[in-house]
Amino acid sequence: MGDGRTMRVAACACGGLRVTLAGPPLGVYACCCLECQRATGSAFAVRARFAGAAVVSIEGERRLWRRGSDAGRWLEHCFCPACGGLVFLRSEAAPDMLAVSVGCFADPGFAAPATAYWASRKPGWCALSGAREIARQ
Ligand SMILES: [Zn+2]
Ligand SMILES: [Zn+2]
Repeated sequence: MGDGRTMRVAACACGGLRVTLAGPPLGVYACCCLECQRATGSAFAVRARFAGAAVVSIEGERRLWRRGSDAGRWLEHCFCPACGGLVFLRSEAAPDMLAVSVGCFADPGFAAPATAYWASRKPGWCALSGAREIARQ
């Protein structure tokens, strides 16, 4: 890019699907809804929102799976067909934005989630320190 913006690469577990992003995320959030628990196989998802303009490239084989949200709008999961890693989501509510799975950056220093959606579905043992909890989305 030549403008000094930090580049970040989010990749699935096998490395087949890679998204390169320029600049910092617009925000980082956790979602403890049951759909995110199923999609991640974990207690919650952590995602970073990036504007479409921050996307430098999306490389590799990918598959899309679209589901409905509680608000009746679509959410689209984009994942690697080889290893199944869910790398990012798009939503009808903000179609130009990418919500990238923070774990795919494999960066323990990545910014912490500022907000935890669907905190009402969070397992009792789970504490997300520093995140503002919202009972629903
Ligand atoms: Zn993969
Ligand atoms: Zn969720």
